[in-house]
Amino acid sequence: MVREEDILQKLESHQLRKTAFRKEVLELFMASEGEALSNQELESQLDNPDRITLYRTLKAFEDKGLIHLAADSGGISRYALCLADCTTHAHHDQHAHFQCRTCGKTICLEGEVVIRAQAPAGYKVERENLTLEGLCDECI
Ligand SMILES: [Zn+2]
Ligand SMILES: [Zn+2]
Ligand SMILES: [Zn+2]
Repeated sequence: MVREEDILQKLESHQLRKTAFRKEVLELFMASEGEALSNQELESQLDNPDRITLYRTLKAFEDKGLIHLAADSGGISRYALCLADCTTHAHHDQHAHFQCRTCGKTICLEGEVVIRAQAPAGYKVERENLTLEGLCDECI
């Protein structure tokens, strides 16, 4: 059970307006216990799902360091609550993700990830992203 005061406090500390919709979306993330959620999963759990509002809400949450893109495959984006001290200015989520190839369940993994690969000169890396793929404990 997620406490309302924790939801409000999180929105406030990330300088987000406390609308009913945002509270509801954040509650779903806080209740998901490290599991990443797709737009579709969020929509199916919202009382009043509005695609555009949800899109804007996710964008705002990401911009303010509240959630991060955990997986982006097969045309489905999944977002997870930030664990580290992400802020309005920067994400510090240097972790890998695990994605189940059967059910798509995606979770944040513990442990720091160091990527030694180097992009060619003149290239600009925008996101470091390591995904371990396989089967989750329910699909194995
Ligand atoms: Zn983050
Ligand atoms: Zn699975
Ligand atoms: Zn993550």
